Amino acid sequence: MIAIVGGGLAGCLLACFLTRRGEEVVLYERRADPRAAGAERGRSINLALSERGLDALRRVDLVADVLAGALPMRGRMIHPVEGETGFQPYSADGTRAINSISRAALNDILLDAAGKSARIVFEHRLTRLDPESGEMRFDTPGGEVHATADVVLGADGAGSAVRGQLLRVGATTESLDFLDYGYKELTIPARAGEFALDPGALHIWPRGRSMMIALPNPDRSFTATLFWPTSGTAGFASLSSPAAVERYFAEHYPDVVPLIPDLVEDYQLNPVGLLGTVRCTSWQSGRAGLIGDAAHAIVPFYGQGANCAFEDVVVLDRCLTEAGGDWARALPLFEAGRRADTEAIARMALANFVEMRDKVASPVFRLGQRIEHS
Ligand code: FAD
Repeated sequence: MIAIVGGGLAGCLLACFLTRRGEEVVLYERRADPRAAGAERGRSINLALSERGLDALRRVDLVADVLAGALPMRGRMIHPVEGETGFQPYSADGTRAINSISRAALNDILLDAAGKSARIVFEHRLTRLDPESGEMRFDTPGGEVHATADVVLGADGAGSAVRGQLLRVGATTESLDFLDYGYKELTIPARAGEFALDPGALHIWPRGRSMMIALPNPDRSFTATLFWPTSGTAGFASLSSPAAVERYFAEHYPDVVPLIPDLVEDYQLNPVGLLGTVRCTSWQSGRAGLIGDAAHAIVPFYGQGANCAFEDVVVLDRCLTEAGGDWARALPLFEAGRRADTEAIARMALANFVEMRDKVASPVFRLGQRIEHS
């Protein structure tokens, strides 16, 4: 039996791939079933899903279901403080797109798919793992539960408990690099039933050291996300009164003020999320392995965390085939083949923050010339 810890994006897709190979899979998720529970305030997160992720979904016939709830964005719309907005297409002929989809909706589709062939156990939070024996302990509403698996795959996200257990036994080392930036969501609702901005674009308000972006949702709203310093004069905490919030947005984001009727409430009530890069060596030991954000979480500025987690699943599946189904060979093969790519995207994601918050606004970029950045 294969245990997957974490019923998020990577865990569910992995369950689909492994059961297709004939494996018996149990998926342990710490949350209650999110299809019944609904989203947390200010944590809706909509993702830009691109070809890397679609390729993985296509292999288990999920791409049509996923794209049915997605909106194509064919370029980015730059909103300067003053003057006209400018559209920068993602491809020369203007046809190629990345797709805006809510992480929760994507997770629901994947849970439905995984549940057809794997057993999903909700409200099971992994607290202890012995990587050598595959013995696991979970906190559940009914008390502690014990289970054992032949292989335990940690798909439990950036704060991975499986990674924590590999650390505990000295099987891995980790580095967590948090930015001194955080993110906060705001909602731009539909106006008279229509999108308040062009839904065919990813909107960016580059402001030098910080920025806001907005991605469209099928209900004709946009989820806007502020990426601001966590402290200092331009940080989230610096706007401590409703008047300060209104003044700041009127000065720096004047075109969105009329579009966000609940600006002050959203700003004051929605949480600030952390942004960081997780690196660890190694991703496997004994019967246990890591995949997705658990192995290599990145900052979101290249829109590739989930795409990369999906691609991990394809690569692990290929390694299993190469290893003739032998997990003891497949997990090291996966790490050896995948590490350099995930380190590269981690660096590119950090570099793209500078591009999005600053360089996309430059006249050179607007002319479509390539800008190199370190
Ligand atoms: P997660 O999605 O975090 O899933 C982990 C699962 O494990 C969760 O369900 C969690 O409840 C469960 N879990 C955790 N601990 C335990 C435990 N102890 N026991 C049992 N279960 C546990 N990516 C993109 O590709 N494009 C984007 O545009 C994009 N934008 C983003 C914007 C923001 C603001 C953020 C924060 C992220 C963004 N990402 C984007 C990244 C993307 O969300 C992640 O890379 C992706 O969700 C990783 O999937 P995962 O399955 O590895 O981890």
